[in-house]
Amino acid sequence: MKTINHGSNIKNDFPIFQNNQKIVNKQLKPFVYLDSAATTQKPKSVIQAMTHFLENDYGSVHRGAYGVSIRSSQMYEETRSKVAKFIGPNVKEDQIIFTRGTTESLNVLAHGISELYLNENSRIVIPLSEHHANLIPWQQAALRKNCELAYISLEGNQGNKLKLNLKEAEQLITKNTKVVSLAYVGNVLGQINPIEDIINLSKKVGALVILDCAQSMSSHNEDLFALGADAIVFSPHKLYGPSGIGVLAMTPELINELPPFIFGGGMISDVTLEKSEWISGPAKFEAGTPSITEACGLSAAIDWIEQYGRINIQKHSTNLATIFLEKLKNINDIEVFSPESGNETIISFRHKKIHAHDIATILDADNIAMRAGHHCAWPLIRYLNVDALVRCSFGAYSDENDIEAAIEAIKKITKYV
Ligand code: PMP
Repeated sequence: MKTINHGSNIKNDFPIFQNNQKIVNKQLKPFVYLDSAATTQKPKSVIQAMTHFLENDYGSVHRGAYGVSIRSSQMYEETRSKVAKFIGPNVKEDQIIFTRGTTESLNVLAHGISELYLNENSRIVIPLSEHHANLIPWQQAALRKNCELAYISLEGNQGNKLKLNLKEAEQLITKNTKVVSLAYVGNVLGQINPIEDIINLSKKVGALVILDCAQSMSSHNEDLFALGADAIVFSPHKLYGPSGIGVLAMTPELINELPPFIFGGGMISDVTLEKSEWISGPAKFEAGTPSITEACGLSAAIDWIEQYGRINIQKHSTNLATIFLEKLKNINDIEVFSPESGNETIISFRHKKIHAHDIATILDADNIAMRAGHHCAWPLIRYLNVDALVRCSFGAYSDENDIEAAIEAIKKITKYV
């Protein structure tokens, strides 16, 4: 396995860094990308695998009896097997559904679960810190079924004091609770939610547990099905792969029972003018032409990650986040909102006198990419009583030079207030 350290020059694997250097005041500024929580950059191997596939093997999947179609179908199904192994040693390929992203995966779940299990006596439980992708589909499900959507609140409002209120979770997850859906790692603050506690509470009352792994899949490798999850979702564009493809993995029971969300070609066993019947397995949820080239990119992305190992990527990123945090805290008027356990790869903060959007815009002038805003989590932002936060997030290619550049730039901005 390859190691990641300060001198390992992983950036050389990513053409985007070479191609985005900028001259600022006659000085060459490297591209400092600190927004991996939004999307990760792509290594050459992923770009080349997709190009090679398009130039040599591209065809429709599961539809043609000719060479390129057969090869495309083979690649697509091999990627499904690779994703299953990536999730856990006992996960089978027929538990893996390809969607267009985490958002679509969560919509498929919220739709199917509401059709199948929810009525006016049911309760859905989610933390109030969720990304809108894991909130709005449940709001819509609750509206359709006239049932309750209950939010687990947080304790504290900054740093180590900020965490999911487990006592409240215990009170909310009762026998009426049919589904509990939460992020493993939060996209705004980077907090690691106590998923084992939530799974245990949910299993006691027979509620389904859905884990949004959009922020955790590139760096955490526990077998979440073995822990008791019923479904997990993630987006390959956050794990060094392409956008346009998503993963929805479910237990065999759920995949059998859940009705499809999108209807069309490729998901039926029979169609008459009056009615249609669905085939079983993942194809039931994959109507229409899927993301074919993106599946090829996903396969190459998993290979790229496996060279280093997810735990090493996690250690590298948390180490950098800790160094950044320590330096950031020494700057006047900075308020850090992320927990400080040392296991975070995301650090969210604001400056008491400079708006988050101004910070991000001024950083961009120095060729530094950091996200500012509400991060698709309005209820959390309101709970924190802020209007926006700056979010700095790390990936496998991040290094200490990025931190130096970012800290220097933030110091420069704050000198003028
Ligand atoms: N959940 C979380 C925790 C996320 O971070 C994101 C992406 N920011 C999403 C859901 C939505 O993912 P996508 O936009 O890839 O569908």
